[in-house]
Amino acid sequence: MTLNLLPMANQDLQFQVTRNENAKSPEEREAILANPGFGQHFTDHMVDICWSEKGGWHRPRVQPYGPIQLDPAAAVLHYAQEIFEGLKAYRHADGSIWTFRPEANAARMQRSAKRLAMPELPTEYFLDSLKQLIAVDGDWVPTQDETSLYLRPFAFAKEAFLGVRPAKKVNYYLIASPAGAYFTGGVTPVSIWLSTSYARAAHGGTGAAKTGGNYAASLLPQAEAYENGCAQVLFLDSQEGRYLEELGGMNLILVRKDGTLLTPASDSILEGITRDSILQLAKDRGHAVEQRPIAYDEWREGVASGDIVEAFACGTAAVVTPIAEIKTADDRGIVMPEVEDRLAMSLREELTGIQYGRVEDRHGWLYRLDA
Ligand SMILES: *Cc1c(COP(=O)(O)O)cnc(C)c1O
Repeated sequence: MTLNLLPMANQDLQFQVTRNENAKSPEEREAILANPGFGQHFTDHMVDICWSEKGGWHRPRVQPYGPIQLDPAAAVLHYAQEIFEGLKAYRHADGSIWTFRPEANAARMQRSAKRLAMPELPTEYFLDSLKQLIAVDGDWVPTQDETSLYLRPFAFAKEAFLGVRPAKKVNYYLIASPAGAYFTGGVTPVSIWLSTSYARAAHGGTGAAKTGGNYAASLLPQAEAYENGCAQVLFLDSQEGRYLEELGGMNLILVRKDGTLLTPASDSILEGITRDSILQLAKDRGHAVEQRPIAYDEWREGVASGDIVEAFACGTAAVVTPIAEIKTADDRGIVMPEVEDRLAMSLREELTGIQYGRVEDRHGWLYRLDA
C-alpha cells in the first residue's frame, strides 16, 4: 500500500504567532518553577500545524495554550491513530537554552508516523516548532540544577470519520511543561515487577513506535506492579515470554563485571535516545556493548554467578534509574548486589553534564533553541 503522506515540497514555514493575553504573570510563573513536579503545569503557548491530504502540512501557528476543539467522530478517539515524542530544554549557566539530539526525535517521530499510517512531519518543521515555542515561552525553562522544560510534540487523526482507514486530516501539536529534579535527596534504586501475564507489544505490532496505545496496554500491568510494591513493570517478549524487552516507558541496560553493557535487541521495543547516548558514552570510555536478544534467565543466572553486577532503566524523564530488584509472582525474582560506584550513575553524570553544558559535547548532540 502506498500512502501519499509525503510533505509538500518548498512550502514556506511562516508561523503565525498569537500571544496569550492571559499568560501567567512573572510571579505566578516563578512560583510554579520553584516546585514544578512533572507534567502538571503547562506554559502559556502551544504550537499547532495542520495536515490534510490535499494541502500537506500547512498553517503553522503559535497560539495560547488551551483546549483543542474535536469532533466526537475524530478518528483518534475511536481508532487511536496517535503518536508522540518527549525531549527536554535545558538552561545553561550563561542563560542560553538548548535541547539534546532533537533530530533523533524528529526521525523517530517520522518512523512512528509511518507505522501508524500518518503523515511524516519534516525534521525542519519539527525543529522549528521547538524554536518557535521557546521564542515565546523561553522564560519557562527553569534555572535550578537538574530541572528542565519538558517538550511534548504529538500528532493525531483529527478527521471526523468512523470508517477504518488512515485519516485525511491530522494535526501536530507541541506543548511544554516545566519539570523538577527527578531524584530529590539522592538516587534510590527501584523495585521492578516482572509481568508474566501481559506483554507490552507484539512481534509485528507497534512496539517500536511511540504511540499512546502501547501505554494504554501497559497501564493494567503497571497497576499490578504498584500492588506488588514496585515502581515499574518489566515486559518480556510476546512470543516466548523469555526475552527481555523494556519497562513501560524506559529501556533496560545490564552491566557485566568486566564492564560490558548488555541491552535487548528486539523489533518490539522503543529505541530510546537516552539508551543510545549512554551506550555511545560507554563505548567512548572503552566499554564493550552487546545489543542482542537477552533471556530473562541469562540476567538471573548472571547475577547468581556474579557476572552481572548492575541493571538500570533509562529514558528522557528520569535519565537513569538503577534497579535494586526484580519481583515476580513465582520464585524467579532477582536481587541485584549492592554497588558502591555505579557505572550507571557515572554515565548519568556525564550525560547530564553534556545536556547542561558542563561537559564538552564531543558528539555535537546539543542544539540551541533560543538563537
Ligand atoms: C520514550 C520511550 C522510551 C525512552 O526513550 P528516550 O528517547 O530515551 O526518552 C523508552 N521506552 C518507551 C516505551 C518509550 O515510550
